[in-house]
Amino acid sequence: MLFFPIQFLLFTHSLWKEWEKTRQGRRVSEFLLDSVSRYQWTAMAPRSRQRRHKKPPSSVTPMVVTPPTVVTSVPLTLSKPDPSIDALGFFSLDNNVPGLSQLILQKLNMKSYEEYKLVLDGGASVSGFGFGCLQEMFQKMEDTFRFCAHCRALPSGLSDSKVLRQCKRCRNVYYCGPECQRSDWPEHRKVCQELRLVAVDRLMEWLLVTGAFVLPSGPWPCLAEVVQGWDTWFSLRCLQLDATLDAVLGSHAMTTLWANVGRPKPDPDVLQGSLKRLLTDALSRPLTLGLGLRALGIDVRKIGGNTVHVVGASHVETFLTRPGDYDELGYMFPGHLGLRVIMVGIDVSAGFTKSTSTFPLEPGTVQLSGHRGLYHDFWEEQVETGQITHPDLVVAFHPGFHASPDLMEAWLPTLLLLRDYEIPTLITVYSHQELAASLQILVDLDTHITAYGANPFASLKPEQVYSNPNKQPVYCSAYYIMFLGSSCQLDKKQLEEKVDGED
Ligand SMILES: [Zn+2]
Ligand SMILES: [Zn+2]
Repeated sequence: MLFFPIQFLLFTHSLWKEWEKTRQGRRVSEFLLDSVSRYQWTAMAPRSRQRRHKKPPSSVTPMVVTPPTVVTSVPLTLSKPDPSIDALGFFSLDNNVPGLSQLILQKLNMKSYEEYKLVLDGGASVSGFGFGCLQEMFQKMEDTFRFCAHCRALPSGLSDSKVLRQCKRCRNVYYCGPECQRSDWPEHRKVCQELRLVAVDRLMEWLLVTGAFVLPSGPWPCLAEVVQGWDTWFSLRCLQLDATLDAVLGSHAMTTLWANVGRPKPDPDVLQGSLKRLLTDALSRPLTLGLGLRALGIDVRKIGGNTVHVVGASHVETFLTRPGDYDELGYMFPGHLGLRVIMVGIDVSAGFTKSTSTFPLEPGTVQLSGHRGLYHDFWEEQVETGQITHPDLVVAFHPGFHASPDLMEAWLPTLLLLRDYEIPTLITVYSHQELAASLQILVDLDTHITAYGANPFASLKPEQVYSNPNKQPVYCSAYYIMFLGSSCQLDKKQLEEKVDGED
């Protein structure tokens, strides 16, 4: 069968992010503070840290927690893995549109989620999986969007006389009839224009996957400090970018794409806008790492180079990532002595860990590698034992610990570890609501927050909640939070200094 990896990527890329995008900015800290005893909080801190906490006795309490009113009898364990992002993606699809996950599996010629997971993990390929031609691939992909945006009916649930028709403005959502479309308009009108961009971008993404759209590269032709956000980045890459975009617009791949997608080719300025959004989406992660290194004042001329850990990395960060994708991070720091980026998470794609390796770090190079597993295990096995150097910066893209008690439970050991070892940390979130909820949790955990705000290197590509299309689209890494150590430790230090001064 043809096009196996590409169509699989296109089908599943949106799925991986689906759950992330649907989660609400829920306050889980209240839940945790009420139900977890202080003993349990301490038990979750990294082991060596607990040892260090033994003396002096006054510093035993790692954080100030309101004494719990209810103590759960079930202790939280360190070994519980994070819920898999794609499993949650399937869950949220069916929550919003009952039967949609089955429809997707059917379009992939798969019977179950287990079969899907097997292919995703690089296991046995499923017989009959794949498509004969591009047209079929795009057709089936479009079929996965065919449900009524208002009543959520799938084609199989409609009477024979009814067919799903597209909104002509955005060419993104479907309706089972004029009544549903009319009733939905007050809601849909708020997002119709943005969804129109989404519908173009998801087709254009194929060009990135096939390699027809190569990102601009090479050292920045000006002082790196000048680049403070996308505006300055675009003006500095201007000439090179125009040539790149013109080449893609006139490419054979572009012609092939629009000959197979079953809708007319948009105007060149629409296509160009889409390419630019895709570009910001691909470069948002490396440049956000750079933002963290800069803002936290990390010395990039350190002998032996710098190490950044991307914690909680998933398929989203690793499946489509190629070694050269992080070069832009290097150009942000001319004269750096080597930057090592290690992706750590239980959903790091199997292909990524195979394709990356750890050679000695050369000055001026960016090295990518992956580690499959939980971060606190990785820390104990690799960092504590000295096999991997301590990180200069830890970054988590959309950790989402505010969204559910399960996720908070999975993230807590890592957050405490980062706080107690005073590792400079940057996290990103999708929305202002998530920003507020995440900040509250980090304050409750007594982390010392050094900065937060709108990310100047946020992705400019709108992300639709595919199974709930009228939900306001979000942007990847729209906001950031940086923290360093504990606010309690800071108080303690200040106190010690004061005491010393009095002596
Ligand atoms: Zn309907
Ligand atoms: Zn529309």
